[in-house]
Amino acid sequence: MIDTETLQKFRDILGPKGFTDDPDDIAPWTSDWRGRYHGTAAAILSPASTQEVSQVLALANRLGVAVVPQGGNTSMVGGATPPMDGSALILSLRRMNQIRSLSAKDNLAVCEAGVILSTLHDAAADAGRRFPLSLGAKGSATIGGLISTNAGGTQVLRHGTMRALVDGIEAVLPDGSIYEGLDALKKDNRGYDLKQLLIGAEGTIGIVTAASLRLVPAIADRAVGWVGVETPEDALALLRMLESRLGGMVEGFEIIADDGLGHVLSHIPSTRSPIETRTPWHVLIEVDLDEQTEPSAAERLEGALAEAFEAGLAKDAAVAASEAQAEAFWKIRESLSEAERAQGPALQYDVSVPVARMPAFMTQAAAAAQQAFPGTTASSFGHLGDGNVHFHVRAPKGTSDGPAWIAADGGRINAFVHDAVVAAGGSISAEHGIGQMKRTELARLASPARIATLRAIKAAFDPRGIMNPGKLVPLDGEG
Ligand SMILES: Cc1cc2nc3c(=O)[nH]c(=O)nc-3n(C[C@H](O)[C@H](O)[C@H](O)COP(=O)(O)OP(=O)(O)OC[C@H]3O[C@@H](n4cnc5c(N)ncnc54)[C@H](O)[C@@H]3O)c2cc1C
Repeated sequence: MIDTETLQKFRDILGPKGFTDDPDDIAPWTSDWRGRYHGTAAAILSPASTQEVSQVLALANRLGVAVVPQGGNTSMVGGATPPMDGSALILSLRRMNQIRSLSAKDNLAVCEAGVILSTLHDAAADAGRRFPLSLGAKGSATIGGLISTNAGGTQVLRHGTMRALVDGIEAVLPDGSIYEGLDALKKDNRGYDLKQLLIGAEGTIGIVTAASLRLVPAIADRAVGWVGVETPEDALALLRMLESRLGGMVEGFEIIADDGLGHVLSHIPSTRSPIETRTPWHVLIEVDLDEQTEPSAAERLEGALAEAFEAGLAKDAAVAASEAQAEAFWKIRESLSEAERAQGPALQYDVSVPVARMPAFMTQAAAAAQQAFPGTTASSFGHLGDGNVHFHVRAPKGTSDGPAWIAADGGRINAFVHDAVVAAGGSISAEHGIGQMKRTELARLASPARIATLRAIKAAFDPRGIMNPGKLVPLDGEG
């Protein structure tokens, strides 16, 4: 545990607004969103400026006190949960929540790490622009967390992951020095790209304090459609058909297994299926136009879907008739994680394989998992066009003690699913990162060269090991 004298030194830097050791204030931030990881921390440090982050890290480094950076705490891999032994303090960036500037002319927003994603969405919309990355946790996830996990979401197909949207970064390195890289340079070849190293680093080599983010024109006209299909193969063929008819206008293409839809309808109030027919798979499509042109987005989507019906790819379809209906379609997609959580204990995998291999993976891996672990049900949903789905294996019906089921079978199921992913040429983390959840699996499956490089980078930046220990980088003896 960290002694009171040490805590007082952090309190002296941050003042009463930036420091709490009240257990009631701390408790909500010591478990992860899914409630699978729990830790303890003697204090939450909440700096209000980059200077304060710098002072905090300089002190932490000097004293050898570990810190766990935290934004919205929506990590799906226990990435922002402190360790159980009380050896680390939580370093929350939530007070650093200013949008320092937003320029429609430059298509750029400079945001502090604690800005919540939906706040940036609203600010960009007010300026006639948008920030084209969205996900179910947009009301809590912060810019610092999104950068540190290289978050994806539902618009990667057209706009890429966070990596493609970050033009500059300001960060504090473990010794307290400030890296000033907010200049949004289109070209910069001064060697290693620190910005890219920090993106996806999960708080293990520095604290992101602010970022220059790329904006795009606001949507002038959009169409949102829901299509029932028989198989993931048909879904991928439908995507390719839409792309050949509509090109870059296809911004969203999400696949959902019918059981996932059923869980949303059961657990999320005010949701209803957009189509009458219950097909084995569903696809949510968004087509966006940056300018009002003829034909409209809805007419273009309807035209393409008519062809999909003729080709036998679509079994039923609906195109939202209003903005409210479009939002209702999206609400189903964005509620899937919450609905799955309400449905009961499950093991969740966020995996990618080459796009062309994904349809077969979705059906074959689910069937194989169900056979290998009798009583479980497995299915997936997500970003088919990115070759990335969230693959869930649910506990047998009637399992009342989820943690006990995970303790008994989790390791074997993890290995089974991850081996299938690797055999299909994929990655065990497409979006959510490694955190503490996948660290040992990364160590088991990654090449020695990858593990050695991760360790070397970590050691170069953070020789005292104070930054988010136990996350991402395999420990000595692992791998
Ligand atoms: C309902 C739901 C839906 C989701 N959907 C998606 C999705 O579609 N795509 C996707 O990619 N993710 C998704 N996620 C996961 C999650 O929202 C993302 O990982 C998000 O980027 C985390 O942001 P956060 O602010 O909550 O970060 P946190 O959970 O607080 O932290 C995440 C990681 O980043 C580190 N960190 C946080 N802030 C900083 C900082 N300023 N500097 C350095 N390190 C920092 C933490 O230590 C931790 O390792 C979803 C989560 C939920 C709950």
